[in-house]
Parts: sequence; structure tokens; C-alpha cells
Amino acid sequence: MDKAIKKVLKESAKRDEWQPPDRYAAPISQLLTAHENAHQDLDRLNAGAEPVISEAKLLNTIINQISDLVYAKDTDGYFLVGSDALARYYGLESAQELIGKTIFDVRGAAEAKRITAREQAIMAGGDSLINMEEELIDTNGVSKWIQISKVAMKDENGKIIGLIGMAGDITERKNNERILDAERQLFRALIDQVPDYLFVKDTESAFVVANRALAADLGLEPAELIGKTDFAFHREKIASKFYGDEQEIVHTGKALFDLEEMVIDYSGAEKWFSASKAPLLDDDNQIIGIVGVCRDITQHKKNAERIHFMAMHDALTHLPNRTLLVERLEQGIAQAEQSQGRLTVLFIDLDNFKNVNDSLGHNAGDILIKAVADRLTSSVRSSDTVARLGGDEFVILLADEDKLASDVGMIIERVRAAIAKPFIIEGQQFSVTCSIGGAAFPKDGTDSTTLLMNADIAMYQAKGSGRDSIVFYTQGMDDASREQRMLLEGLKSAIANDEISLVYQPQVELETGEIFAVEALARWHNFELGHVSPAKFIPLAEDSGLIVPIGDWVLQEACRQNKAWQDAGMKPITVCVNVSTRQIREPDWVQRVAEILRETGMDAQYLELEITESMLMSDVEQAINMMRALREIGVNFAIDDFGTGYSSLSALKSYPVTRLKLDRSFITDLENNNDEKHIAEAIISLGQKLDMRVIAEGVETDEQLDFLREAHCDEFQGFHFSKPVGPAVVAEMISNHVLLK
Ligand code: C2E
Ligand code: MG
Ligand code: MG
Repeated sequence: MDKAIKKVLKESAKRDEWQPPDRYAAPISQLLTAHENAHQDLDRLNAGAEPVISEAKLLNTIINQISDLVYAKDTDGYFLVGSDALARYYGLESAQELIGKTIFDVRGAAEAKRITAREQAIMAGGDSLINMEEELIDTNGVSKWIQISKVAMKDENGKIIGLIGMAGDITERKNNERILDAERQLFRALIDQVPDYLFVKDTESAFVVANRALAADLGLEPAELIGKTDFAFHREKIASKFYGDEQEIVHTGKALFDLEEMVIDYSGAEKWFSASKAPLLDDDNQIIGIVGVCRDITQHKKNAERIHFMAMHDALTHLPNRTLLVERLEQGIAQAEQSQGRLTVLFIDLDNFKNVNDSLGHNAGDILIKAVADRLTSSVRSSDTVARLGGDEFVILLADEDKLASDVGMIIERVRAAIAKPFIIEGQQFSVTCSIGGAAFPKDGTDSTTLLMNADIAMYQAKGSGRDSIVFYTQGMDDASREQRMLLEGLKSAIANDEISLVYQPQVELETGEIFAVEALARWHNFELGHVSPAKFIPLAEDSGLIVPIGDWVLQEACRQNKAWQDAGMKPITVCVNVSTRQIREPDWVQRVAEILRETGMDAQYLELEITESMLMSDVEQAINMMRALREIGVNFAIDDFGTGYSSLSALKSYPVTRLKLDRSFITDLENNNDEKHIAEAIISLGQKLDMRVIAEGVETDEQLDFLREAHCDEFQGFHFSKPVGPAVVAEMISNHVLLK
């Protein structure tokens, strides 16, 4: 191919200026000399002198060696001399026969006229005819291409004395050219079909060939690139890179493969290519240029970037995932080590995310997680990292550039405040809290694994300490987290192992002092762990979902016990059972309650389910439907821990609730806090105005009881009357008609 290109280049360069082909130079000058001699011969003949035969012979010998048609004519058109080839062409025996003839003697009149007119014009001082190509049909009817040149013949004074003609058979060259032309077209079609960039450049990196794909990306035609370098089309920096690589190839002779190149196309879009460039050698192995192929890898690169992004980020929130977090953490540690700085890792877990997910579905859960991700991101600095590890677990990495602990404190507060603001999801308002565990470099660990683990442990501690809190890691905390894990393991088999039991705390009517109900409270005694407080295992059961089977068992047992008391002839009382969100979100919850009532044979009117405000708020409509369905079969409802949540008072009246349980915190603070007093009074009267009975929880002292009497509270429950006790003790209290003193 290189030869062909060179040839094309050469020929196109020389097409316009004609120089007599070398092979003609000598014959022409000899011809002129011969002509001169012939005239001299004539003169001599006229003068009776000896003609110089030898020169004319020599001339004939020479021109007969040439395969081309060569002749000279005088101004009247008579052949002075002609080559054998010409004679043969005209169908004559020998060149000798030509002498003294005109074209009219050897060609048809029409052709002879045309040729004569052209030759006369030249001899009249017109332009020479140089390399005119003509297709002729020879005497055998075969198409031939000839190239004709005709120049006026002049004597030493410049006077035109005749005409020299030369005609070469260029049929073969013509055919070759045609083939070459076809080859070129084929080559063009081929390279223009290819979507890759294909090009040939000279040693100065100027384009010699460029295909359509390459030109099209520049908004140009291929021809517009020829002779120009990349500097004409690309920014300096991009072109310099190409130029550098190509010059390296020119100088070293070594090809370069898989070069990653970027160009900006005419529309301004970035395109990436994998380029291979090799030296172009001539027949002597000299480097005469560069050939290049560039494959578009933009999509491939985008995919690769996307895969990389996906490997490093969480699909839902697009936050960094654990892998990227660890990478950043390790970078941060290396930096902090150098600058003797600090680093803080915060492990964040939403407290009641499972409620949202269970009650509103995964879609709503996803929306919440995304909203949390946004809030977390906007509450930290851009130098900090917010990552999602999965579920409702996030990690914030605080790069403590200023080495100010107060900054960290401020950020944590911002994070908590950001999460605490209500979320509106699918038209409903939600409140979530979070538990945060913190660990700092280098105090709580000097490598990423330890720091993350200790922040996680601290987070578990925060959960265990009642949620919505922040706990920083301290040594020895690992034991606490190990305990959490042990608890969870134990809890899984607690029911099967008969480790859960119920105690009952009497509820007393203030006016009469009589026990009218008992609250069933779960107790867990494990062989290894001993007694585990509900404050520990209930949240664990709720988080792990174990609360569903445990709650079922509690309900079943409480109903069975109450029915047994009634069957034993005791005064019928109500049994109050605590239920968790996880339970009431079970699709068959209403049927389960009904089934347990049927199985135990206890009348529904003696069952009261205690639910909390937050349970009601997470899905008002569903809660009301569930409660109405159970109210229809006679089950009662109480709102537990009232006053600690954010229930809307207007919604309160739409719930079929018969009792409000005033949270223990109000009662505890009564003595030294006037505000608490006023709030407690307000809640009592509010409940009563809404046709509910109000029961105060956690009553321990006479003073508290006095206050409740004054505030006209209906009922109470608390250590003052009795701690939660076993069924036998309760039975005794009721049978012996133990009254409030
Ligand atoms: P709760 O429903 O508010 O139950 C009242 C809690 O207050 C009980 O704690 C009870 O022992 C305690 N208490 C009662 N009177 C007093 C008092 O005068 N002073 C003090 N300091 N405490 C008093 P307990 O049994 O530890 O239960 C804690 C919580 O665990 C319960 O709060 C309830 O939310 C949950 N829980 C207990 N059993 C179950 C259950 O079977 N299912 C569900 N879902 N939750 C349960
Ligand atoms: Mg309760
Ligand atoms: Mg309570």
C-alpha cells in the first residue's frame, strides 16, 4: 500500500508541470541536429556536394530503437523523418516510405484534417501540445491509449521550421492507472466504512490519509485534513500528546499500542479512544510516516466508570459503600498519622426504621433512607465522608482538620437535629431518631477495622441505653456488645426453652382502691444470663423481629391466665398486654388476637391492648382500622407512656381508645417540677374530656398519690401499691380483696 500511496502522491504533485521525459531528451536534441543536417544535406545536394548519409542513418537507427512514435515534419506537413514504429502504425512497411508523405497519405481525410489543423496551429506559434492523452482505435479495432506531444521545431534564430511529434502507447499505464484508481476507490470505501479512526501521517505528523470516521468527528470531510496536523483541530494539550507519541514512533521506530486518548469532537463531546500507532516504512525500511488505528472506547469507559462507581457506592443512596469508606478511612488515618491529627468515625443506626419499612412498605423505607442520606450529607463538611453500609446503617467519617474536638461535637449535634426533623413520606409525617456510636483515631484504634468495629460497639451501646443517644467508645465496651450478641442468641431460643414468663402489676381505681386490672409484663430468665430486664431484651426483640413470636406467646399466656383466674371463681379483671409495632403490622394480627381469644375462651372485654403513641402515628389509617376491627369483637385499647410521643391531639379523638396511661416520667418529676404538674393535670383532664379513663403509671409515694387524687385522676399503677408479681400473688391479692390503704 505504501508504494501505491507514494505513487499517487508523486503523480499528483507532478501532474501540472510538464518536463519532457528523460528518455525523450536525447532523441529530441539529436532530431534537431539531424533536421539541421538534413537541411544542410539538401543545401549540399543543391550545391552538388556529398550528403552526410551517415548522420541520417545514425538518426534513424536511434529513433527506431524507441518504441514510441517519433517524427518530424516540415512546415508544409511533409514527414522529414519518422520512426519504424510510426510507419507500422500507419500501415507502412518502413520509415523510409514516410519521407515526403503527408498525413493525408496515411490517414483518412477527416482525421488528417484535424491533425493538420492542430499542427498548423502549433507551427503558427500556438501552444505546444504536451502529453495529450487520447484513446484511439487501432487498425485491428483494439482500443489504445496514446500520449501525444507536439512542439514546434525552430532553427538557431528561433524561426519555426517544422514540427516534432512524439506519441507513446500508454495503454498499459492507463490500464494500471485504472486498476490503481479502482484500488484507491476500494481502499477509500474500505477505510470509510470502518467506524474506527484510520489514518496515515507523514513524519511531521501531518495527515496523508484520514478516514471518514475521523473527519466526521471533527465536522470535516477527509480531504480537509490532508496536509494538516492535529494542532489545527484540537486543543494544544491534546494535540501535543498525539504529536509526542507519534514523534517517539518516528524516532524509535517502535509501534505504540493501546494508547488511551481523549478528543473533544466538533459537538464538544468527550470521546475516548484506544489508539495503536505504528511506523510506516518504505521499500528500504526507512520510516516515511505513521499509520494509526483508534477505536472508540467511550461507552466502554463509561461502563467501566459506572462499574467502578457501583463497586464503590451504595445503589440506593449513591453514598460511598463499605469498600470506599474503608479506602477513605485508611487514607484519613495515613494523613492523620502524618499531621498528628484526629479522625472520628460515627456509626449511625436509625432507631425505628423497621417500623416504617414494616408499616409503609419497602418503597417508603427506601424514600426514608434516601432522605436520611441527604440530610446526613448536608449536615457535614465536604471534606467528611458519609457512607451507607446497608439497611439503616450509616457511617460518617469526620476528618478533623482543625483538631478541634468542639467541631466534632457540633457536627454530631447537627446530624442528630437533621434526623430528628420530621420526614414527610407518601403524605405522612414521620419522626425518626438515631443511635450514634463514635470512635476516634488514635485513641480508640489505629486501623480502619478496629475503628469501625469500636464505633459499631459504641452504637450498640447507644441503642441499649434507650436509643436516640450518642455514645463514644470506651475500653471494656466490647464486653457490652458481646453481651448484646449473646442476648440475641439466647432470645432466639427463649420461648422454646420456656424461659419467658409473665408477671402482673395490679392497676387500682383511685376512688374505690380496688384492683380492676393487671398489666402483664414479660420476664426472661436465662440459665446463663440470669434475669434479663425487659428494657434490654424488648428493644432487642423488636429490632430482630423476635417480638412477633414472643408477643404472641405473651398474649396467649395472659389470656389463658386471666381465664384460669375467672374459671377459679375470682372476680373478673382486665388483663393488659403490651404490643409492639412489629406485631400490629403483621397482616393477620386481628385474626391472631381473635384466635387466641377463641382458643383461651377468654371474653374479649377483659383484654386491653397497650399501644404507644408512636405506633399510632406511623400509619394512622391502618392503626384505626386495626383498632376498630378489634373493638368490634370487644377488645379494649390503652395508649401507653402517653405524653412522651408526638401524637396529634386532633387524631387522638378518632382512635377507639378507652384509656390513657400517663407516662411515669410525669409522676416521677411531680415533686420538684411545677411544669410537670400542670402538664399531668392537663393530660388528665384532656383524656377525660375525650371520654377516656386516665391511669397514672409508676406511682411510688403518698405525695404522688395525693396529687393524683386532687387532679381527679381515675386510676394508678405503681410500686406504691405493688410491684409486678407472679400469678399466684396476684390471685391472692384479688381473692383477699386487698384494697388501697
Ligand atoms: P410499660 O408497658 O410502660 O410497663 C411499665 C413498666 O414500668 C414495667 O417495667 C414496670 O415494672 C415498671 N413500673 C411499674 N410501676 C413502677 C414504679 O412505681 N416505679 C418504677 N420505677 N417502675 C415501675 P418492666 O416490666 O421493666 O417493662 C418495661 C417495658 O417493657 C414496658 O413498659 C413495656 O413497654 C415493655 N414490655 C414488658 N413486657 C412486654 C411485653 O410482653 N410485650 C411488649 N411489647 N413490651 C413489653
Ligand atoms: Mg405497658
Ligand atoms: Mg408504660
